[in-house]
Parts: sequence; structure tokens; C-alpha cells
Amino acid sequence: MSGSIRIGTIAGIGIFVHWTFWVFFIFLAFTFWGRSADPWQAIEALLFILAVFGCVVLHELGHALAARQFGVETRDITLLPIGGVARLERIPEEPLQELWIAAAGPLVNVAIAAVLYFVQPKAAGQLAAEGLLAPESFWNSLMRVNIFLVLFNLLPAFPMDGGRILRAALAMRMSHWRATEVAASVGKVMAVLFALAGLFGNFMLLFIALFVYLGAEGESQLARMNNLLAGIPVRDGMITDFSVLRPEDTLKTAIEMLLAGSQQDFPVVADGQLVGMLSRNRLFQALQQGGQEHLVAEYMEPVCLTVSPFDALDAVVRDMQQHHCPTVPVVWQDRLVGLVTNDNVVELVTLRNIFLSRQESVKTT
Ligand SMILES: [Zn+2]
Repeated sequence: MSGSIRIGTIAGIGIFVHWTFWVFFIFLAFTFWGRSADPWQAIEALLFILAVFGCVVLHELGHALAARQFGVETRDITLLPIGGVARLERIPEEPLQELWIAAAGPLVNVAIAAVLYFVQPKAAGQLAAEGLLAPESFWNSLMRVNIFLVLFNLLPAFPMDGGRILRAALAMRMSHWRATEVAASVGKVMAVLFALAGLFGNFMLLFIALFVYLGAEGESQLARMNNLLAGIPVRDGMITDFSVLRPEDTLKTAIEMLLAGSQQDFPVVADGQLVGMLSRNRLFQALQQGGQEHLVAEYMEPVCLTVSPFDALDAVVRDMQQHHCPTVPVVWQDRLVGLVTNDNVVELVTLRNIFLSRQESVKTT
């Protein structure tokens, strides 16, 4: 996530803190400082916030390590004022796998709460005896926060954990797409409830409401798109009318091609073989660094993914999202035969949507 600073790596997963979290933390520090006469109280309050976010990191690691069991890696974990986000490469469509991944986070908080329940009387008693801690406060509060985290995350507010568990349970009885639609609708209702509750004081809930609403909308759109693309081979959804560059072309030629049409990313071909890609962003970067007479060969990038005309388009689109490739070359028998682009996929989905809804209206009239 942009604007985040890495604070460490656990189990090979980068842990980041978003700048808004620092702002939030400094804001709290000033508030506590202003409110309490005793600086130790303010420090204790801040240590408590850090401990809570430590539990949030462990919660996200629960998701990440459960996902790893199913061969799904986690790009990073980011802390925001509203909680943590683990960016998984993908969410498995297998309902049991999604269920387990979603449940693993709250289960971590159950475990922490249980440990605190059994350990804290002793630990807190010791610290209190040394005059470091008011008895009952820190660890007991941390335990209660963990119980709250379990309950809050289990609310069926898709894409929060409870919502994912709901979707997975539904997907055992209906198609993945329908299950997503239902879970997303429930999630949006929950978002509205959060927003209403947020208006009465807890403005953090307003952010969570927005996060849930946009997340539910995004996921249901993605599921609808995947559903519309199901069963289509790449060959039926690729662009066949496109321009290519040669390594020895100058950037001037690339600019002319870019301005002449709507194509944004250009395959680079030498002796009939695909050797690289020059994207629009890369071209702009290159022009900032050097002049138009520089060669395409100097600035082209390796191809991030190639596909065959017979691959399934919905899987290719998922791979494109996973690898952040806006344009994917289609190669058949060592020859470049087409391109799959985000824009073209969106057009295809829109057309299929119109076509299917017309068919449905013919059926129902
Ligand atoms: Zn979670």
C-alpha cells in the first residue's frame, strides 16, 4: 500500500504501517498526555494501543499462514487505524479453504484471549506488586479487546472475516458467484448499520462502514465479471488488431504509435519472436530520463505473463490481477497472435452482460 513504512518481516511477509496510523497514534499520544496528569498513565495507554495492534498483526498472520497451507502467498500486511489488512495473492474459490483462512484470524484472538485469561492474574499480580501496573488493568483490558476483536470480526459484514465465512458457507450450497452476491448484499446492509452507529459518536465506524461497503461492491463486481467470463477461451476475447515495436525502433516511433491509436502497451518483437513489452508508463518514464532517439531495446521490460489462445479467459484475468499485468501477450507456436487487455476484457464483459440480460428479458416476456 502506498504511503506505508515497513517495520519488519515475519514468516517472510513484510509488515507495513500506513502513514495514517502514525497520525492516529500521535493524535492519541497528545490526547492522553493532555488528559492525564501522570505521564506514566499516558505511556501505559500508548503501550496498550501498541499491544492491541500487536494482536491485530497476529490476527492477520493467522490469515496469512492459513492461506499458505493452500499455496496462497500473502503480499504484505498493513496496519491502518481501523485495523489490519493482509493482502493475499488470491482468495481460493474452494469454500472450505476460504472458510479456514477467514476463521484463522479470529481464532488467533481466541487463543490470545485464552492465554491472557490463564496467565494474566499471575503476570499482572507480579507487575502490580512491583508497582509497575495497576492490578487488573492492562492484561485484563487486552483480553477483553481480543474478545471484542473476535466478535466484531465475526459480524457478517463481507469482506470482513464473518462475511467471508458466510460466503464460504453459502458457496457450499450455491454457485460461488451467487454466494458472493448474497454475502455482498448482507455486507452492504451491515455497512449502512455501521455508518448509522458511527453517526452517533464513534467516527471510526464510519471509516469501517466505507471500507466494508466499497469492499463488498468491488468483490461482487469481480465475481460478476468472472461469472460472465466463465467458459470463454482467450481466443474469443483477445485483440488481434494491434501494433508491435522492434527493439531497434526509437522511442519516437513508440510515441507515434501511442498517439495514433488506443493501444497503450506494445509488444516488442524481433525475428517473429516476442522479446519484451513497452508499456505506456514505461515510455513516459523513458522520455523523462532520455531523449526520443533512444531505442526501444533500452527501455523494454520482460513480459510478465504469456498465455495460449486456448486458456480460460476468467483464469487469465485472475492471473492478470494477481501479477498486475494490464496487457498480456497471447502466444501460439512461438508466434504472437493476440493481446488480452484490461480494457478489452471490460468491453467484453459489458457486451455479454447486455446480451444475457436481453436474452433473459425475452425469456420472461
Ligand atoms: Zn481478519
